Amino acid sequence: MIDTHSHIATNIEGLEFVVLSGSNIEDSIANVEAIKNNPKLKASVGIHPQKTSLAGRQAISKIEDLLINNKEIVAVGECGLDQSNLPKSLFDKRDLPKQEKLFEKQIELSLKYNKALIVHSRKATEETIEILKKYKNLRGVIHCYTGGKKRIKDYLSISDNFYFGIDGNLTYEDGLVEVVKNIPKDRLVLETDSPYLTPVPHRGEENYPNNVKYIYQKVAEIWNISLEETEKIIDTNAKRLFYKI
Ligand SMILES: [Zn+2]
Repeated sequence: MIDTHSHIATNIEGLEFVVLSGSNIEDSIANVEAIKNNPKLKASVGIHPQKTSLAGRQAISKIEDLLINNKEIVAVGECGLDQSNLPKSLFDKRDLPKQEKLFEKQIELSLKYNKALIVHSRKATEETIEILKKYKNLRGVIHCYTGGKKRIKDYLSISDNFYFGIDGNLTYEDGLVEVVKNIPKDRLVLETDSPYLTPVPHRGEENYPNNVKYIYQKVAEIWNISLEETEKIIDTNAKRLFYKI
Protein backbone atom coordinates (compact mmCIF):
# COMPACT_ATOMS: atom_id res chain seq x y z
CA MET A 1 0.00 0.00 0.00
CA ILE A 2 1.11 3.52 -0.83
CA ASP A 3 0.02 6.83 0.67
CA THR A 4 0.45 9.26 -2.22
CA HIS A 5 -0.16 12.41 -0.17
CA SER A 6 0.70 13.12 3.46
CA HIS A 7 1.96 16.04 5.53
CA ILE A 8 3.06 13.69 8.32
CA ALA A 9 6.17 11.52 8.18
CA THR A 10 5.40 9.09 11.02
CA ASN A 11 3.21 5.96 11.34
CA ILE A 12 4.22 4.55 7.97
CA GLU A 13 4.62 0.92 9.01
CA GLY A 14 3.13 -1.59 6.60
CA LEU A 15 3.32 0.80 3.66
CA GLU A 16 5.54 0.54 0.58
CA PHE A 17 6.10 4.29 0.46
CA VAL A 18 4.60 7.65 1.46
CA VAL A 19 4.82 10.87 -0.55
CA LEU A 20 5.26 13.97 1.62
CA SER A 21 3.48 16.86 -0.01
CA GLY A 22 5.02 20.36 0.10
CA SER A 23 3.00 23.46 0.99
CA ASN A 24 5.67 26.14 1.33
CA ILE A 25 9.46 26.52 1.21
CA GLU A 26 9.96 25.47 4.84
CA ASP A 27 8.08 22.19 4.65
CA SER A 28 9.49 21.46 1.19
CA ILE A 29 12.96 21.66 2.73
CA ALA A 30 11.76 19.52 5.66
CA ASN A 31 10.45 16.90 3.20
CA VAL A 32 13.82 16.73 1.46
CA GLU A 33 15.53 16.29 4.86
CA ALA A 34 13.05 13.62 5.99
CA ILE A 35 13.67 11.32 3.01
CA LYS A 36 17.39 11.16 3.82
CA ASN A 37 16.68 9.11 6.93
CA ASN A 38 13.96 6.85 5.60
CA PRO A 39 13.83 5.28 2.13
CA LYS A 40 10.06 4.75 2.47
CA LEU A 41 9.52 8.50 2.48
CA LYS A 42 9.42 10.37 -0.85
CA ALA A 43 9.51 14.14 -1.19
CA SER A 44 7.42 16.60 -3.12
CA VAL A 45 8.29 20.31 -3.14
CA GLY A 46 5.95 23.19 -3.87
CA ILE A 47 3.80 26.14 -2.85
CA HIS A 48 0.17 25.49 -1.86
CA PRO A 49 -2.29 28.02 -3.38
CA GLN A 50 -3.47 28.99 0.13
CA LYS A 51 0.11 30.10 0.79
CA THR A 52 0.22 32.35 -2.26
CA SER A 53 0.01 35.60 -0.30
CA LEU A 54 2.92 34.50 1.86
CA ALA A 55 5.14 33.35 -1.01
CA GLY A 56 7.95 35.77 -1.68
CA ARG A 57 9.30 36.66 -5.12
CA GLN A 58 12.05 34.09 -4.72
CA ALA A 59 9.70 31.22 -3.95
CA ILE A 60 9.81 29.59 -7.39
CA SER A 61 13.59 29.84 -7.70
CA LYS A 62 13.93 28.27 -4.24
CA ILE A 63 11.75 25.36 -5.35
CA GLU A 64 13.85 25.04 -8.49
CA ASP A 65 17.05 25.00 -6.41
CA LEU A 66 15.65 22.13 -4.37
CA LEU A 67 14.86 20.22 -7.59
CA ILE A 68 18.35 20.81 -8.98
CA ASN A 69 20.11 19.76 -5.78
CA ASN A 70 17.95 16.76 -4.82
CA LYS A 71 17.43 14.42 -7.75
CA GLU A 72 15.43 12.01 -5.57
CA ILE A 73 12.48 14.43 -5.30
CA VAL A 74 9.51 12.69 -6.95
CA ALA A 75 7.02 15.51 -7.46
CA VAL A 76 6.26 19.22 -7.62
CA GLY A 77 3.36 20.42 -5.46
CA GLU A 78 0.95 20.62 -4.04
CA CYS A 79 0.14 23.56 -6.25
CA GLY A 80 -2.97 24.86 -7.92
CA LEU A 81 -5.92 27.13 -7.26
CA ASP A 82 -8.04 27.59 -4.13
CA GLN A 83 -11.02 29.91 -4.10
CA SER A 84 -12.65 28.54 -0.95
CA ASN A 85 -13.60 30.88 1.87
CA LEU A 86 -10.77 30.56 4.31
CA PRO A 87 -10.08 33.20 6.96
CA LYS A 88 -8.38 36.23 5.44
CA SER A 89 -5.34 35.75 7.63
CA LEU A 90 -4.63 32.48 5.84
CA PHE A 91 -5.45 33.40 2.33
CA ASP A 92 -6.90 36.20 0.24
CA LYS A 93 -9.49 35.36 -2.38
CA ARG A 94 -8.48 38.31 -4.53
CA ASP A 95 -5.11 36.86 -5.41
CA LEU A 96 -6.40 34.48 -8.13
CA PRO A 97 -4.06 35.96 -10.79
CA LYS A 98 -1.10 35.39 -8.47
CA GLN A 99 -2.30 31.85 -7.73
CA GLU A 100 -2.54 31.17 -11.46
CA LYS A 101 0.95 32.49 -12.08
CA LEU A 102 2.47 30.39 -9.27
CA PHE A 103 0.56 27.35 -10.50
CA GLU A 104 1.82 27.74 -14.07
CA LYS A 105 5.40 28.21 -12.91
CA GLN A 106 5.19 24.98 -10.91
CA ILE A 107 3.65 23.09 -13.83
CA GLU A 108 6.60 24.26 -15.92
CA LEU A 109 9.05 23.05 -13.25
CA SER A 110 7.41 19.62 -13.20
CA LEU A 111 7.83 19.35 -16.98
CA LYS A 112 11.37 20.75 -17.01
CA TYR A 113 12.60 18.33 -14.31
CA ASN A 114 10.31 15.46 -15.36
CA LYS A 115 8.54 15.14 -12.00
CA ALA A 116 4.97 14.26 -11.18
CA LEU A 117 2.67 17.24 -10.55
CA ILE A 118 0.47 17.27 -7.42
CA VAL A 119 -2.52 19.54 -8.06
CA HIS A 120 -4.70 21.09 -5.36
CA SER A 121 -7.98 22.59 -6.61
CA ARG A 122 -10.73 23.95 -4.38
CA LYS A 123 -13.76 25.85 -5.74
CA ALA A 124 -11.80 26.52 -8.91
CA THR A 125 -12.41 23.46 -11.09
CA GLU A 126 -13.02 25.36 -14.35
CA GLU A 127 -9.95 27.53 -13.94
CA THR A 128 -7.77 24.58 -12.93
CA ILE A 129 -8.76 22.52 -15.97
CA GLU A 130 -8.28 25.49 -18.26
CA ILE A 131 -4.70 25.93 -17.10
CA LEU A 132 -3.83 22.22 -17.13
CA LYS A 133 -5.19 21.88 -20.68
CA LYS A 134 -2.58 24.33 -21.96
CA TYR A 135 0.20 21.83 -21.30
CA LYS A 136 1.10 18.60 -23.09
CA ASN A 137 2.57 15.42 -21.58
CA LEU A 138 1.64 16.22 -18.00
CA ARG A 139 2.15 13.44 -15.49
CA GLY A 140 0.20 14.27 -12.37
CA VAL A 141 -2.61 13.83 -9.90
CA ILE A 142 -5.61 15.89 -8.93
CA HIS A 143 -5.24 15.48 -5.21
CA CYS A 144 -8.29 15.05 -2.94
CA TYR A 145 -10.57 15.05 -5.94
CA THR A 146 -13.83 16.94 -5.31
CA GLY A 147 -14.85 17.82 -8.87
CA GLY A 148 -17.74 15.33 -8.91
CA LYS A 149 -18.69 12.84 -11.64
CA LYS A 150 -19.16 15.57 -14.22
CA ARG A 151 -15.54 16.65 -14.35
CA ILE A 152 -13.88 13.24 -14.49
CA LYS A 153 -13.77 13.28 -18.31
CA ASP A 154 -12.10 16.69 -18.36
CA TYR A 155 -9.30 15.55 -16.07
CA LEU A 156 -8.89 12.30 -18.00
CA SER A 157 -8.40 14.28 -21.19
CA ILE A 158 -5.43 16.19 -19.74
CA SER A 159 -3.11 13.25 -20.42
CA ASP A 160 -2.89 9.45 -20.28
CA ASN A 161 -0.84 9.89 -17.15
CA PHE A 162 -3.24 11.93 -15.07
CA TYR A 163 -4.68 10.41 -11.88
CA PHE A 164 -7.35 11.04 -9.26
CA GLY A 165 -6.31 11.07 -5.59
CA ILE A 166 -9.06 9.93 -3.22
CA ASP A 167 -8.93 10.38 0.56
CA GLY A 168 -10.42 9.09 3.79
CA ASN A 169 -13.69 10.95 3.32
CA LEU A 170 -14.57 8.14 0.90
CA THR A 171 -15.36 6.10 4.03
CA TYR A 172 -18.15 8.49 5.09
CA GLU A 173 -19.27 10.49 2.01
CA ASP A 174 -21.71 8.58 -0.20
CA GLY A 175 -21.24 11.01 -3.09
CA LEU A 176 -17.59 10.02 -3.33
CA VAL A 177 -18.52 6.36 -3.74
CA GLU A 178 -20.33 7.33 -6.96
CA VAL A 179 -17.28 9.33 -8.04
CA VAL A 180 -14.94 6.37 -7.48
CA LYS A 181 -17.26 4.13 -9.54
CA ASN A 182 -16.80 6.54 -12.45
CA ILE A 183 -13.01 6.82 -12.30
CA PRO A 184 -11.25 4.25 -14.52
CA LYS A 185 -9.48 1.67 -12.33
CA ASP A 186 -6.11 2.50 -13.86
CA ARG A 187 -6.40 6.20 -12.93
CA LEU A 188 -7.06 5.98 -9.19
CA VAL A 189 -4.51 6.53 -6.41
CA LEU A 190 -5.16 6.76 -2.66
CA GLU A 191 -3.92 9.25 -0.11
CA THR A 192 -4.52 10.23 3.50
CA ASP A 193 -3.68 13.97 3.39
CA SER A 194 -2.60 13.38 7.03
CA PRO A 195 -3.23 14.96 9.49
CA TYR A 196 -6.58 15.79 7.81
CA LEU A 197 -9.53 13.73 6.51
CA THR A 198 -9.24 10.81 8.94
CA PRO A 199 -11.20 7.79 7.68
CA VAL A 200 -13.74 5.72 9.58
CA PRO A 201 -13.14 4.09 12.11
CA HIS A 202 -10.74 6.77 13.39
CA ARG A 203 -12.77 9.85 12.48
CA GLY A 204 -12.24 12.68 14.94
CA GLU A 205 -8.64 11.65 15.63
CA GLU A 206 -5.51 12.94 13.93
CA ASN A 207 -4.83 11.13 10.66
CA TYR A 208 -1.69 9.11 9.85
CA PRO A 209 -0.36 7.47 6.66
CA ASN A 210 -1.06 3.91 7.85
CA ASN A 211 -4.79 4.73 7.91
CA VAL A 212 -4.65 4.55 4.11
CA LYS A 213 -5.55 0.86 4.53
CA TYR A 214 -9.14 1.82 5.34
CA ILE A 215 -9.41 3.64 2.02
CA TYR A 216 -8.00 0.61 0.16
CA GLN A 217 -10.58 -1.56 1.93
CA LYS A 218 -13.39 0.77 0.92
CA VAL A 219 -12.26 0.76 -2.73
CA ALA A 220 -12.07 -3.06 -2.70
CA GLU A 221 -15.66 -3.07 -1.47
CA ILE A 222 -16.77 -0.62 -4.20
CA TRP A 223 -14.95 -2.54 -6.94
CA ASN A 224 -16.19 -5.81 -5.49
CA ILE A 225 -12.78 -7.49 -5.81
CA SER A 226 -10.27 -8.70 -3.22
CA LEU A 227 -8.10 -6.33 -1.19
CA GLU A 228 -4.99 -7.96 -2.73
CA GLU A 229 -6.20 -7.29 -6.27
CA THR A 230 -7.18 -3.74 -5.34
CA GLU A 231 -3.77 -3.13 -3.83
CA LYS A 232 -2.04 -4.40 -6.95
CA ILE A 233 -4.00 -2.08 -9.24
CA ILE A 234 -3.72 1.03 -7.06
CA ASP A 235 -0.03 0.55 -6.28
CA THR A 236 0.79 0.07 -9.96
CA ASN A 237 -1.00 3.36 -10.66
CA ALA A 238 0.96 5.16 -7.92
CA LYS A 239 4.27 3.87 -9.31
CA ARG A 240 3.32 4.91 -12.83
CA LEU A 241 2.44 8.36 -11.48
CA PHE A 242 5.69 8.91 -9.57
CA TYR A 243 8.16 6.68 -11.43
CA LYS A 244 6.65 6.19 -14.91
CA ILE A 245 6.75 2.40 -14.43
ZN1 LIG B 1 -2.19 18.21 1.19
